[in-house]
Amino acid sequence: MSDQFDIAIIGAGMAGASIAGELAGASIAGELSGASIAGKPAGQARILLVEAEAHPGYHTTGRSAAFWEECYGGPDIVPLTLASGAYLREGGFLAPRGALYISQDDGGAQVSAFIDSFAGTGVTIEKLGRGAIEHMVPGIRPGWTRAIAQPNCADIDVAGLHQHYLAMARRGGVALRCHHRLQAAEREGTTWRLDFGQAGAVRANLVVNAAGAWADEVATICGARPLGIVPYRRTVAQLRIAPAPRADLPLVLDLGGSFYFKPENGRLWLSPHDETPTTACDAAAEEWDIALAIDRLEQVVDWRIEAVERKWAGLRSFAPDRRPVYGFAPDREGFFWCAGQGGYGIQTAPAGARFAAQLLTRSARDAMTMALDEKLYSPARLLGSALL
Ligand SMILES: Cc1cc2nc3c(=O)[nH]c(=O)nc-3n(C[C@H](O)[C@H](O)[C@H](O)COP(=O)(O)OP(=O)(O)OC[C@H]3O[C@@H](n4cnc5c(N)ncnc54)[C@H](O)[C@@H]3O)c2cc1C
Repeated sequence: MSDQFDIAIIGAGMAGASIAGELAGASIAGELSGASIAGKPAGQARILLVEAEAHPGYHTTGRSAAFWEECYGGPDIVPLTLASGAYLREGGFLAPRGALYISQDDGGAQVSAFIDSFAGTGVTIEKLGRGAIEHMVPGIRPGWTRAIAQPNCADIDVAGLHQHYLAMARRGGVALRCHHRLQAAEREGTTWRLDFGQAGAVRANLVVNAAGAWADEVATICGARPLGIVPYRRTVAQLRIAPAPRADLPLVLDLGGSFYFKPENGRLWLSPHDETPTTACDAAAEEWDIALAIDRLEQVVDWRIEAVERKWAGLRSFAPDRRPVYGFAPDREGFFWCAGQGGYGIQTAPAGARFAAQLLTRSARDAMTMALDEKLYSPARLLGSALL
């Protein structure tokens, strides 16, 4: 074994790629935290990004519904989403879409509760009535009379953003190795020995856990206490419908959380908004979830469904309080969490990665991350007082 790194990032989905991009070129002149780095000579950090699969983005990152929606994930996620907005817009990764949360006649209290829950968060939302809904969603069935519009919602170029971060990492000297599944890890003095089975082994001072659905498994491998991050399956079907969906159809979400749909290149992407707890795996769509989604759609619009052209599922991984986890493990030296991005790991990636990189290198916040509350996302919040 000859490879020696300062930082090894486990997982090259959006979380791993974006933190690799943000860390690329980081100096280790005393600024990288952790006793393991202290005393190292000044210079550029040697960073390794490893991916178990044949290519980065194979799992959840490659399966998203690709939207940036200010309210998605609730008020605790808004700061990360809004902080990421300018970066995404300026980078050309967003295309206007607009979102519409819809509800039936009896949903007045739900509408008010939703609006109240976002008071003071900075999101742009407005209440709409039946006339506006009919105009925005032609073919909507009677009964859907209440809505909340979120006009800033946009489609995200997920692959473009992922490639952007991988390119940033590459330019900054980060080494990417696919077919490298972390299988064992031992802390030897102030460094890790990381074992990838037949792919070999390396040494690194810090491990960044960006393993998505496998985050708790990677923590266990490294001797850190798992945080209770659970993967939940989410399904999407691509439908051919008649009439074809208008290109300016907004992202339409059930305020009660039982479906969403949006147009995509003349087709409709539809999800039953499922959240089935599962073990970490290569998720696949279940027929039942597709049938459920179609049944729900038919209760909302009078469109004819001509074919299910494609279907897929991915795993959205949540900590028990559904907030992402960024920060050093309080119970394991040299182990840093960048996990639990749930259903918003694309739209929050720029701010999440910048923030995580700043925590890891103990460097100052900047305009993008200034408003983020470290305690809200710290792993310590999930470990109980005994470890704090
Ligand atoms: C259907 C669906 C729709 C979604 N829609 C949106 C959306 O519209 N907007 C949004 O912002 N988010 C959305 N999300 C959520 C978003 O996709 C995720 O939050 C994000 O992709 C998580 O990225 P990740 O890097 O943590 O996970 P992943 O992309 O799964 O990457 C983790 C990687 O770690 C690797 N790994 C695991 N264990 C090891 C190991 N031991 N050694 C080496 N590598 C390992 C895995 O192979 C994997 O590639 C959606 C998710 C789904 C499923």
